[in-house]
Amino acid sequence: MTEPESQDESTTRDVAKLADRFLQQRADEHDIAIVERQLGRYPRGMVAVGARCACGRPLAVVTRPMLPGGIPFPTTCYLTSPEAVKAVSHIEAEGRMRAYNELLHDDETVAGEYRGAHRLYVAFRHELAVRLGDDESRIANVSAGGMPERVKCLHALLAQTLVMGEGVNPIGDRVLEAVTEEFSPSVCRCGSLDD
Ligand SMILES: [Zn+2]
Repeated sequence: MTEPESQDESTTRDVAKLADRFLQQRADEHDIAIVERQLGRYPRGMVAVGARCACGRPLAVVTRPMLPGGIPFPTTCYLTSPEAVKAVSHIEAEGRMRAYNELLHDDETVAGEYRGAHRLYVAFRHELAVRLGDDESRIANVSAGGMPERVKCLHALLAQTLVMGEGVNPIGDRVLEAVTEEFSPSVCRCGSLDD
């Protein structure tokens, strides 16, 4: 009984530290301009760059829980790198999503870790909401990517792995490994953003 409690305490501390770190390194105009070109739209509510390529370009962003205008935004960790998006789309097209859903169904350990990833996602957003004064009540138990029970979007799960680090989301970690020939945060394969 004491062990899960102390685990919860340490993860709460970890997500609080992570939120502090991102809020101390808020996105500047240059980062926002690059993400706008990556997405083809202005990244509303972007708080910080959540992960960077070896070259420094944003790969994923951290978005506040409530967008300007009072719109709740559950996808706190969002993949922005066009190269990463494309690489993940390739493995989705190859049927990886079904394989991961089968893994969740068959492997109780992975399923437990995946539920933990859901809790950490929500806890991380909670820490952001507290610091930013955002109302999170309408998305309080909503995470992303199909969590906690299903795998529905590998892009969202990889974004959590990139932003929160490996060892948090077992499926996001597997996605990162599966795309490594095409995308890796440690190998710059960034293309031009001009076209
Ligand atoms: Zn790069």
